[in-house]
Amino acid sequence: MKILVINAGSSSIKYQVFELTPYESTLCSGLVEKIGEPVSVLSHKRMQRRRVDEIRREESVPDHKAGLKLIVAALTDPEHGVIHDISEINGIGHRVVHCGEAFSNAALINDEVFNAIEDHVPLAPLHNPLNLTGIEVARECFPDTPQVAVFDTAFHQSIPPHAFMYALPHEFYTKLRIRRYGFHGTSHKYITDETAKYLDKAKEMTSLISIHLGNGCSMAAVHNGECVDTTMGLTPLEGLVMGTRCGDLDPAIHEYLAEQTGKDLSEITRIMNKESGLKGLCGYNDVREVMQRAEDGDERSRIALDIYCYRIKKYIGAYSAVLPDLDAIVFTAGVGENAARVRARICQGMERIGIILDETLNAHPSDVARDVHAAYSPVKILVIPTSEELQIARETNALLQENA
Ligand code: ADP
Repeated sequence: MKILVINAGSSSIKYQVFELTPYESTLCSGLVEKIGEPVSVLSHKRMQRRRVDEIRREESVPDHKAGLKLIVAALTDPEHGVIHDISEINGIGHRVVHCGEAFSNAALINDEVFNAIEDHVPLAPLHNPLNLTGIEVARECFPDTPQVAVFDTAFHQSIPPHAFMYALPHEFYTKLRIRRYGFHGTSHKYITDETAKYLDKAKEMTSLISIHLGNGCSMAAVHNGECVDTTMGLTPLEGLVMGTRCGDLDPAIHEYLAEQTGKDLSEITRIMNKESGLKGLCGYNDVREVMQRAEDGDERSRIALDIYCYRIKKYIGAYSAVLPDLDAIVFTAGVGENAARVRARICQGMERIGIILDETLNAHPSDVARDVHAAYSPVKILVIPTSEELQIARETNALLQENA
């Protein structure tokens, strides 16, 4: 069973092909970037046992359709490809950012699903239109292949009203659909499944706090396999401090800033999305760079890291209060998987709530799932590499099997 996973961005298309049966493996991955610019670039990596061969092609790719055609050419390339013919792809899984309350699971794309994604464009104006373009061009290039939408918001649909409603006039929810939706759901769901496997427990009996720290950062509280709260909200701006996003703020800051600076609301929102977070605090958004500068004595970088870790710690406290059981806290994504010092900083002083790190295990670099807690820690501390693409492939495959 071969599944192609597509993630369409404004000027890029990322892709991966997975073989799912009898064993899961990645056959290839790549991306076309700079679509619409005079010179676009395709990078394609084929995995073969222990070997990876890589190609890079530069040519003009005027639009997403041309981009996907270039990907198809790479997939079927006699030397570097992984299939002979597009009919070998059994299904295509698309990352779709937002489908509000319409779906709590992946969906086989038909006109109704397509229209539902379109209906949620106002809630994700930067992402859903691009995801729709990805679906349209994939339907043109693979007319006979079933396509599945896997939504970033779906895993969070189990969050109860007391956690998803904002304390605003009720009709803002009923008429304007303002509520917490949450994002990174595909990653949090993957981490939930992998945590259950790692702990050798049924997912329905596994409770955890999933801590996704990449360029974007979010956390999810998961009770018995179901998400019950998450840090991102109506948009991915709420919650943790991120590379360039501010996370939680006093909502009155928007008006105060507008009055004081004369900037309009959309410019202030842009600043909160693109010029804030670690970058706003110290000038750098890459955690590696911030850590290095903090170590070299840069005070603003030190404080930026303190703020970043403190916010995560605060949410661990909040979620460990709302979860009736807690098996593990789980770190994932670029920072969560690699930055041992950030994990150590976050876990420091949490013995009282049962979270006790083993410094030596934590400091040991690895790229596989592992535990880093002290043997006597009541709550386990895990580091599990995430793979949103594999999760999309798994859900696509599962849906195709169900519909077979
Ligand atoms: P995305 O959210 O775009 O998928 P990733 O999950 O790949 O991003 O995370 C990217 C971030 O991970 C980078 O901004 C960088 O700060 C951080 N990162 C990657 N490797 C390390 C490392 N070894 N130590 C600290 N941070 C790292």
